[in-house]
Amino acid sequence: PIPEAPRRIQALSSDVVNKIAAGEIIVAPCNALKELIENSVDAGSTSIEILAKDGGLKLLQITDNGHGIDQEDMPILCKRHTTSKLKTFEDLSSIGTYGFRGEALASISYMSHLTVTTKIKESSCAWKARYAKGELVPMKPGQTAEPKPTAGRQGTQITVEDLFFDNPNRRKAFRSASEEYAKILDVVGRHAIHCSNVAFTCKKHGESSMGISVPANASTVERVRQVHGSSVANELIKFEVSNDRWGFKSEGWISNANYSVKRTTLLLFINHRSVESSAIKKGVEQTYATFLPKGGHPFVYLSLEIDPRRVDVNVHPTKREVGFLNEEEIVETICDELRSTLGKVDSSRTFMTQS
Ligand code: ADP
Ligand code: MG
Repeated sequence: PIPEAPRRIQALSSDVVNKIAAGEIIVAPCNALKELIENSVDAGSTSIEILAKDGGLKLLQITDNGHGIDQEDMPILCKRHTTSKLKTFEDLSSIGTYGFRGEALASISYMSHLTVTTKIKESSCAWKARYAKGELVPMKPGQTAEPKPTAGRQGTQITVEDLFFDNPNRRKAFRSASEEYAKILDVVGRHAIHCSNVAFTCKKHGESSMGISVPANASTVERVRQVHGSSVANELIKFEVSNDRWGFKSEGWISNANYSVKRTTLLLFINHRSVESSAIKKGVEQTYATFLPKGGHPFVYLSLEIDPRRVDVNVHPTKREVGFLNEEEIVETICDELRSTLGKVDSSRTFMTQS
């Protein structure tokens, strides 16, 4: 048989490119929410309220009291690679934040019906706009796409409706709304514990009781109590370690040897972004293994600050695993300190029972 003639190469339209990227960044409602919370925190908010319906698939709404968005920026707000956080590639090495590439809102606008209401201090009213595929679109048929003046307080409200509405395969992949809601609570809980001085609430649409509610002035231990309960909050010890050679400092709260559960809870923030690190998780579990009964696991909240020049932030936004220099040494230093912190508590107990 005669081989088929080679097919000609064509460029994908930017619309298709953006849609593919959006699908990689926003895989589930909790991915969208994490980006939105980071934006609210970046905007200096002291209060963040979250509302979810059908596990965030029908509705995901986040209301903050941050500095808001200038009305003149609204036309480009949801375009891909528009950001107020990064100007040159060199900034990448010193910026210390991950949500820097201006892709979150763009991606969400490709995957849902997105409405933004925002007010800056200098503006006499709030402005409301609807977005689709990176662009302003009319809120109702027959209207213009221009942002509309409306009443509102300083800050920003982002409403994400019908996530994945034109991606039925992905929609079908979600087994249950309650599973997605649990992931939402996990994301909110992590930030509610880490972001001191910020009040958080999270609830299901139509329910009066809160899934999570943390006041702005709550201490870290109080935050853990609100999110994870007293059984763990009562068994926490302060953890602190730093090392100039490896350019990092770390603090947090860790459960003592009295507390032992089936699974490790590791809340890890590096430079104030919630991330995963299998190296740190493994080190933590190995360290605790000598303190806990067989099969027992701890609760560990760690906030790490690493010299931004040493962290590789130029990873894909969905890659929650981060890379940093001297990873092995840093993990070892943390684990040594964990061991000595846990050891001190352990021996003081023994001492107390003996005397
Ligand atoms: P990035 O956070 O990477 O810049 P995003 O798409 O998440 O990209 O957001 C784009 C821009 O929109 C941000 O740089 C910021 O200026 C603005 N913005 C987004 N959310 C908020 C918010 N809640 N409050 C104030 N400004 C916001
Ligand atoms: Mg962002």
